[in-house]
Amino acid sequence: MPSSKKLFLRAKKVIPSGINSPVRRYDPYPFFVKNAQGSAIWDVDGKKYLDFCNGYGALLLGHQRKEVISSVSSQLKKGTLYCAPTELEVELAELINKNYQSMDKVRLVNTGSEATMTAIRLARGFTKKKKIIKFEGCYHGAHDSVLVKAGSGAAHQGIAFSEGGLDEIAKQTLVIQYNNSQELDHILQKQKDIAGVIIEPVLANMGLIPPQKKFLYDIRKITRDHDIPLIFDEVITGYRMSPGGAQQYFSIKPDITTLGKALGNGFVIAAVGGKAEIMDMLSPQGKVYQASTYAGNPVSVAAAISSVKTLNRHKNRIYPKLEVCCAILARTIGDLAKDLKIPHQINFISSMFQIFFTEKPVTDYRTAKRADAKKFKKLFKALLKNGIFIAPSQFETVFLSDAHTIPDLQKTIDAYHKSLKVVKG
Ligand SMILES: *Cc1c(COP(=O)(O)O)cnc(C)c1O
Repeated sequence: MPSSKKLFLRAKKVIPSGINSPVRRYDPYPFFVKNAQGSAIWDVDGKKYLDFCNGYGALLLGHQRKEVISSVSSQLKKGTLYCAPTELEVELAELINKNYQSMDKVRLVNTGSEATMTAIRLARGFTKKKKIIKFEGCYHGAHDSVLVKAGSGAAHQGIAFSEGGLDEIAKQTLVIQYNNSQELDHILQKQKDIAGVIIEPVLANMGLIPPQKKFLYDIRKITRDHDIPLIFDEVITGYRMSPGGAQQYFSIKPDITTLGKALGNGFVIAAVGGKAEIMDMLSPQGKVYQASTYAGNPVSVAAAISSVKTLNRHKNRIYPKLEVCCAILARTIGDLAKDLKIPHQINFISSMFQIFFTEKPVTDYRTAKRADAKKFKKLFKALLKNGIFIAPSQFETVFLSDAHTIPDLQKTIDAYHKSLKVVKG
């Protein structure tokens, strides 16, 4: 019996569903990991996969990036948790604020969920208003204000996505269509109790859906006209699309920004930052409460400093390279699907792409949901068999890293070719 299967049987007895985050589960059982290095990940049976899940985008510089590992190793000899401030935290905040023009101040947290939770509380504290607007399909973490789905009510009032989540909280979140700025305009004309608008500037949690031409500019203008804080959730796009994230890529300044994933290249760290007048509302100076034992722990901060410095130092090589490699990969895979006469869409931007098995363009939640998720499952399994690991869901994104080589990409194209033939049947 494969070791992964044995481990899964053991895991199911002691861990709910056998995994520690839902998307990791797929049938009949997920592979269990032995180790990872550069662009590759090995399972406990010794099979090698090229990693395009990449910690859901976190590993922009690849596994065990030497600069990051060496900073962390030297920090480990100095202690792992102080719960008192360090120079490292100041250095990281200075680096982040320099990369993100929209940030005067930034507070470090541990996870993206914590960052968005804090961003929303800040927006509410700052405006003294209640309701939040989010876009359908955007993911902002696993807490009640954002873990909502669109209700059927005319006013787009949210309902709890999860059992145990409260509809009373969910209904304070209004859900509107991505890539539709008119809908935002409309709702702001009618609703007066809006504390903030939160968005993934590139929707990377519904497969991959880039913003259409003027969409982000329009929502910036509309929120500014209504004097409502705009929150860019850059937990995926931050440091991934450019050192200054999607906001630099598109030249748009949000009021509050959240960062995570690529910030620490695989270490546990996230951040929330913005204008001083908003950020200074945080306790103890201000009255918006936020706290965490592990926030700013020196190990994660050391990892983030070296990730950020590495990205800044090599930005003229890394970002254009990833953009070109991703476009070639996505276009080639699209051509292969076309040759096989498989109806599909390929969306890509920066270092992210996804294929959807549907005839019509995918521009929002609803058009993404039309994609044939069963075909995608077939693709995922065939890719795995051919040594390619992507996130096991149609509604996640394929992430490139700086560690992927040209031969890696050639192997990936071959594997997609074989796997698309399986999808075709
Ligand atoms: C992953 C993600 C989050 C949540 O981050 P966690 O670290 O998993 O809590 C929030 N927003 C976006 C856009 C994400 O992709």
